[in-house]
Amino acid sequence: MANEDKSARYQRLRRRAAVAATLVDLLLPIALAVSGLATAIGNVVSGPGAPGPLAVVCLVLLVCAVRTAIVVAIGVQTELASERRYRGHERSTASWIFERIFGAAGTAAAVVLAAIVVQRAGLLSPVWWWLWVSLLAAVVVLAAVQWLPRLLSPGAADVHPIAKRPDLDERLRLLAARVGTARVEVLEWRRRSGAADAVAMLVGLGSSNRVLVAQAVLDSHTDEEVEVIVAHELAHHRHRDVWWSGAAVVTTLTLGFYAAARLLEALPVWWGVGGAADLAGLLIVATVCRGVFVAMTPVVNALSRAQERRADRDALAWTNNAPALVRTLRRLSAAHMADDRPSLMTEAFFGRHPSVRDRIQAAEAWAARANVPAAHPTQSGAAR
Ligand SMILES: [Zn+2]
Repeated sequence: MANEDKSARYQRLRRRAAVAATLVDLLLPIALAVSGLATAIGNVVSGPGAPGPLAVVCLVLLVCAVRTAIVVAIGVQTELASERRYRGHERSTASWIFERIFGAAGTAAAVVLAAIVVQRAGLLSPVWWWLWVSLLAAVVVLAAVQWLPRLLSPGAADVHPIAKRPDLDERLRLLAARVGTARVEVLEWRRRSGAADAVAMLVGLGSSNRVLVAQAVLDSHTDEEVEVIVAHELAHHRHRDVWWSGAAVVTTLTLGFYAAARLLEALPVWWGVGGAADLAGLLIVATVCRGVFVAMTPVVNALSRAQERRADRDALAWTNNAPALVRTLRRLSAAHMADDRPSLMTEAFFGRHPSVRDRIQAAEAWAARANVPAAHPTQSGAAR
């Protein structure tokens, strides 16, 4: 019980940080646009008229710097504090802040590029810019999903064949062949400790697909447990779930750009916003896109939870091993301090997976239907 309360408090602090960051994303650009600061930056850097790329770069870097300062300050009080209080992390505040700033710099570079593209498109095609930018976004997302596996390959990243457990390697090969996904390689991903909590993941599209299993999982889970984890990922491959997730991102972006274009057209002339080519207009595009992402989150998360439930069902059908799935879910839930009983609102906005309680109940129901035990008395105790 005490552990459940701790998990709920830990997750609540993390959610608070995410909500604060989203509010900053929505309010900061609007404040800069309405205050006239964006227009002033444009006038100073590129003179009157359409702002040049340097003005766009200055504006985006200002927004990113202020956002990072606010979000990091909030994060120290919420995320870092909760990591220390509930998970016993011993990292120094300075190294945590450095990692956040490093991540924010990468994001800022991508946002600069995106802003220049949107602004140029707004200049060249004041009516249809949202369509051209959406098409380009689709190409970029597709290319990123195709390209990611090459960054996460043996040689390019700390990714290796599962050599130290040949029996397991053979078992996973047989599993992949049995379910018609023999081309999908299963590899070990040696992640540094403290890295995000992914256990295993499917990367790539079509023939570039591979399943990466975190080293920590291979070090601590039995062959049966790893098999059911990998079966779950292979189910994502069978159903092209990576593709659907990419399509959801592109659809949301397109809706965001379209809504921003309509809003910019509807703004009264005396606001002085000249469309997406204008710096103030660019900030409005950013806010509307972020707002549409937030509004679409419950839909995208519901789609994701449906994919996860289906992957669990397939993993059970392919391994016939509900006890292994239940054990794995219990262990991972404890290790990651998952909130077992999220509220409806929390599940809608944060639940990319169904709650662990729901997944265990589903596995037990599957076992009852298939008439096999859901928990093995001799193994469940040892595995916790
Ligand atoms: Zn999954």
